[in-house]
Amino acid sequence: MDLLEIYAQMGVSRAVYDRGEAVLETLESRFRAIDRNAEVNQARVLLAMQKNRIGAQHFAATTGYGYDDDGRERLERVYADVFHTESALVRPQITCGTHAMTVALSANLLPGDELLSPVGLPYDTLQEVIGIRPSLCSLAEYGVTYRQADLKPDGSFDYEAIRAAISEKTRLITIQRSKGYATRPSFSVAQIGELIAFCKGLRPDVKVMVDNCYGEFVDVVEPSDVGADMVVGSLIKNPGGGLAPIGGYICGTEECVDRCACRLSAPGLGQEVGANLGILPAFYQGFFLAPTVVAGALKGAIFAASLYEGLGFRCVPNASEPRNDIIQAVELGSEAAMLAFCAGIQAAAPVDSFAAPVPGDMPGYDSQVIMAAGAFVQGSSIELSADGPVRPPYAVYFQGGLTWQHAKLGILLSLQKMIDGGLAAL
Ligand SMILES: *Cc1c(COP(=O)(O)O)cnc(C)c1O
Repeated sequence: MDLLEIYAQMGVSRAVYDRGEAVLETLESRFRAIDRNAEVNQARVLLAMQKNRIGAQHFAATTGYGYDDDGRERLERVYADVFHTESALVRPQITCGTHAMTVALSANLLPGDELLSPVGLPYDTLQEVIGIRPSLCSLAEYGVTYRQADLKPDGSFDYEAIRAAISEKTRLITIQRSKGYATRPSFSVAQIGELIAFCKGLRPDVKVMVDNCYGEFVDVVEPSDVGADMVVGSLIKNPGGGLAPIGGYICGTEECVDRCACRLSAPGLGQEVGANLGILPAFYQGFFLAPTVVAGALKGAIFAASLYEGLGFRCVPNASEPRNDIIQAVELGSEAAMLAFCAGIQAAAPVDSFAAPVPGDMPGYDSQVIMAAGAFVQGSSIELSADGPVRPPYAVYFQGGLTWQHAKLGILLSLQKMIDGGLAAL
């Protein structure tokens, strides 16, 4: 069976297929660079696993307290080695990325301390954690204050505003690498390094946490290579490689990670407790696969930007910019177009392909959100997914794809649904 024939069965028209092929021809050299990047990152992960002498015995399940869990401890060593940090906390007891960041922030901020975001408003769910939007148990409730320096209109750091915002009270600085649900640029590791150097130049003792969600393995260095004290993220995004069914990680200095462990479990218990419940094979194997999964997702993002930009939609990043995360924002301009785009992504899924995504309320978000995902792991956004808050500019945030081939099909189907609905024209 040939490709056109099977795509026709799946609802992709000849015209959409041909447009996709024409776009692909322009992307050869970029795809080669992504593969080269993945090769470096694959070796980074392999080296860490070999150095820590991972053997089959390290996949064994532990229960109860999980004392002396060698598999868990070695996995944390593997993460620490890949991120070049002294220590790491990688656990199924960290329920998601927001939880990982909550642990990192609340462990390293005490009453009277101030948290600073030098990159504007943080990700939606973090706003309630901090108390920017009031919430039970926010940092604000515990007497931690918050300040922010907005980005300049062009998306660059406003160093004067940052200088003015850093004070004696500033204890921790939070930097979000990926744009999240905003249409600002995502930052490169090099840019984050410059920002950290500037902040530490003003206040050498300040700690820096980087929200690394969606950024892992996009580059061959991580924010921990350029001065971050903690890098934090979710295992149902990049580093879980699609196999981790839950979890989060915090890699960083011993000083910071020890505090995180005590906050996650209990003072005095720290990193010593936390049974792995049999989840380690997925964590290890997912981390092993993550560099190539991220490469496939990056190809999908670049393909989507090239396709949609060519049809007149604003894309962030645009089709030719370097990539700093796996997210592709496409400004679709209307709720109807968001629905059509998401319907196409959903229709391409291996699971729940028959479902129709509709906007709804989500905990932690202040506008309705539409989500298309037919994932093996619920809510996993390293799997092919598209989502976005239903508010102007009606941008859909597209990400993931465990394989490049699946990402491509999803994007072609999204365009097909847009065309069928009269919302885009070739
Ligand atoms: C996904 C995400 C988070 C939160 O992670 P969850 O696992 O959804 O809780 C935080 N920051 C950014 C930039 C993200 O993309």
